[in-house]
Amino acid sequence: METLGSVSTLRSRRIILFPLPFQGHINPMLQLANILHTRGFKITIIHAEYNSPNPSNYPHFAFKPIKDRFSEIADQLATNRDGTYFARYLNKSCVDSFIDCLAELLAEPGEERVACVITDACFYFTQAVADDLKLPRIVLRTSGLGCTLACDALPFCSKKACFYLTKQDSDYEASVPEFPLLKFKDITNITINPQGMGDLTSNILNQMRASSGIIWNTFKELEESDLETLSQDFQVPSFTLGPFHKYFPASGSSLIEQDRTILSWLDKQPPKSVVYVSFGSVAHITKSEFQEVAHGLANMGLPFLWVVRPGMVVGSEWLEALPEKFLERMGERGRIVKWSPQQEVLAHPATGCFWTHNGWNSTLESICEGVPMICSPCLADQPINARYVSDVWKIGVLLEDGFERVGIKMAIKRVMMDKEGEEMRERVSSLKEKSVNVWQIQWHVTKLQKQWSCGAFGDYM
Ligand code: UDP
Repeated sequence: METLGSVSTLRSRRIILFPLPFQGHINPMLQLANILHTRGFKITIIHAEYNSPNPSNYPHFAFKPIKDRFSEIADQLATNRDGTYFARYLNKSCVDSFIDCLAELLAEPGEERVACVITDACFYFTQAVADDLKLPRIVLRTSGLGCTLACDALPFCSKKACFYLTKQDSDYEASVPEFPLLKFKDITNITINPQGMGDLTSNILNQMRASSGIIWNTFKELEESDLETLSQDFQVPSFTLGPFHKYFPASGSSLIEQDRTILSWLDKQPPKSVVYVSFGSVAHITKSEFQEVAHGLANMGLPFLWVVRPGMVVGSEWLEALPEKFLERMGERGRIVKWSPQQEVLAHPATGCFWTHNGWNSTLESICEGVPMICSPCLADQPINARYVSDVWKIGVLLEDGFERVGIKMAIKRVMMDKEGEEMRERVSSLKEKSVNVWQIQWHVTKLQKQWSCGAFGDYM
């Protein structure tokens, strides 16, 4: 873990942060909070009741839970494949309680001055609240720059049929004119509700443009050309402070207990031999897809560590859909866990590749450990990230035909055994070397601090 020098500010300032209540959003927000804390800021986290972080892991922060009415729809998480629905719902259900909480915090006597509120980009309603209170709002965008550019370009609201193409359509494999890196088959995976996605992304992007600044969990050398394009399109200051997890691990904000017993199993495996498989905290797969994964892992003959999150397989509680006697047949060669200490697994010398759904955090964590990927994107930004991994950075193989055992075996061979895989490993190792730049992150945080102290964001007081 890299260390950031701590700095005491001239005047003690408080920053209020508000994460979206999902694992892939909570982790980077709390990591960012830690980075800011080491630079002398006091931290208050306003958070939804759903997926509440554990305050005892952060005794140096103040926590303020707010009512979110998420319990009214939480049972739909397992069945409703429209991911935009949950974010759009939270942008309505949290409004009143967020306003009350923020106004109360600002009115607290004797408290340090509040420098700004930092909210997840997906909480677009917070811009109007911050404007009303004359408080600068900085946005944390938890996905990559490429995803933001793609979402800006794709015609979600056009009611075009392109979001519903199937394998039988002649354009299925063709590039999307608005964002040629993507194929039509990629964008059919982004959402089942293009109109809802269009509403969500245009609200997010408009309110990012109206904000006082945007913090990105990425690093310049990874997305340099996209950074230039974005800075023309978003006329607010941008701060690339990532990769956050290299300064603070995500274990403290894990919503599921991480199974650390597998680290001693990893210790017994040869270097770069293990295929690590995880599809993150929200993706679901069908029983037949799950079985194809199992057959793919059984057929390839290498050790594997597979994270099967309870409820991940549609219609199953956990492992019921595994092929008969799968675990006995695999013996010591394979391990299945409910949740792993992912960053440590990726950093372990035995890990040879990461078969991932390409959530942005997982993608970044893999890059930062120099681990090449096999990509099985499921929804949202994942198909976009997967194209960057396979076609731009060339550090992984995309399973173009989904979960299918022959394709899986071939992809694992390409990454783990072929010359092509060695070249991917070299490229991702070179990105790993560039990923941590303590000087750059300190420069960006100092720039942020200077802007706050000279009132460049419009000082609240
Ligand atoms: N993660 C973990 N253990 C696991 C799987 C994932 O700690 O077994 C963490 C992972 O390190 C990452 C986060 O959960 O920080 C998942 O975020 P990501 O953006 O990759 O995907 P999402 O869950 O949002 O789809």
